Amino acid sequence: MKTRFAPSPTGYIHIGNVRSAIYPYLLARQAGGSFILRIEDTDQARYVDGATELIEDTLKWLGLEWDEGPIVGGPSEPYFQSERKAIYHEWAKKLIAMGRAYADDTSSEQIQTYRDTCTTKKIPYLYRNFRPESPPEWHEGLPLRFKADPKIRHWHDEVMGEMTAGPEVQDDIILIKADGLPTYNFAHIVDDATMGVTHICRGVEYLSSTPNYLALYEALKLDVPHLISLPHILAPTGNKKLGKRDGAKSVTEYRDDGILPEALLNYLACLGWNDGTEEEIYSKDQLIQAFSINRIQTSGARFDETKILWMNGQWIRKLIDEEGIDSFYPRTIDYWPESAAAYDDVYKKRVLSIIYDRLKTLSDLREMTTYFFTNPEIDLAMINKNKFLKKISEEDLSELLQTATTKLENTTWDADSLQDALNQLLVDTGRKPAELFSLIRIALSYAPFSPALHLTLEVLGKNTSLARLHATVTAIENA
Ligand code: GLU
Repeated sequence: MKTRFAPSPTGYIHIGNVRSAIYPYLLARQAGGSFILRIEDTDQARYVDGATELIEDTLKWLGLEWDEGPIVGGPSEPYFQSERKAIYHEWAKKLIAMGRAYADDTSSEQIQTYRDTCTTKKIPYLYRNFRPESPPEWHEGLPLRFKADPKIRHWHDEVMGEMTAGPEVQDDIILIKADGLPTYNFAHIVDDATMGVTHICRGVEYLSSTPNYLALYEALKLDVPHLISLPHILAPTGNKKLGKRDGAKSVTEYRDDGILPEALLNYLACLGWNDGTEEEIYSKDQLIQAFSINRIQTSGARFDETKILWMNGQWIRKLIDEEGIDSFYPRTIDYWPESAAAYDDVYKKRVLSIIYDRLKTLSDLREMTTYFFTNPEIDLAMINKNKFLKKISEEDLSELLQTATTKLENTTWDADSLQDALNQLLVDTGRKPAELFSLIRIALSYAPFSPALHLTLEVLGKNTSLARLHATVTAIENA
């Protein structure tokens, strides 16, 4: 089995495109075949500098290594369409020799009058109805057209099933443009054939042109590869295809936001595919095992960003629980708040170890850990508004916090002793955990959330913790 991902380097990798890389990758790995990366850069108007590198980086980041293509080379070099012009011309000449392709010197004005004629007559415009009787000899600078053989065509799509199309969708498509470069329609057929591609996975938008492709395979006496059309990814609302405006980010943006490649790969692979069980978390190796074409859904799958966040949280916990903090920590380096720069890795690892089960993305670290690195600003309103504390008078609050501070002052600073001391404080003060612990928690962090209290205290350290508790006592007294 040989599969391929054939992106056009237009600068932005929509996450829908990535699924067209994941599925062929999984198929190739499952079958022990090869996965090719081919850069379809013949549309020079759409070409964006650096876009190829972006594609390569994205695939590497997701762990979708290719066996043939840019950087790694391979038996069918080159893997950039813009460097394969001679190959396309050679194949074009075969079609000319067979009488199945002809030069087209019709001006665009002329084509417009053909179109207008069809509009007036209310019939569909097909170029082949205006095919010139004696076209000029083909030379570069003139578009080259295919001579269609319109008839009823049947084919099998591995996802969509048995397909049939009539002659009305088959036309004299352009093979080579006036700039000498091939169209997608022609180039991909030549490339897939010369590269030995056996399975084509691509978006369902190519389904309507498939009858034209079948005619070309037939004329060139090529076997038709297995065709696998992937349904659209739908926007979170409405019944339309997911677009940039629907909040779908590029892969790089997800990475910058602290989404793990494991999670994005998992999410996208399961968007429109499942193995028939309730399982949702798959590693790359598990996907390679479980993937099957016949469980790709035929209808569009709805994009859901909250699901990505959920899955990412699952992956953060899974990786840390399985591999440990030391192994995971390097992935967090770029996501800490600026103030963390003054602290060493040992301290940050301790913070990570008590907070990771609340993270949805790595960039949550930026917001959720600031009080581990800087003293929070005292904001008594947070205490006054707290639903457990607002009923307690200021005097009682300051006394309660003072009692807690004194108790902690005399406690050995390790998690177990701190836990015991906090429990003892509940008994001594007769307060509910929600009251006592909320108060200490706020005084330590002034944040909406903090990890288990004894762990927060342990990691902050004795001096810092006590200083913050004292500071709040004083602030309440002075209020
Ligand atoms: N270059 C096409 C695209 O980016 C590829 C379609 C295909 O996979 O054949 O949509």
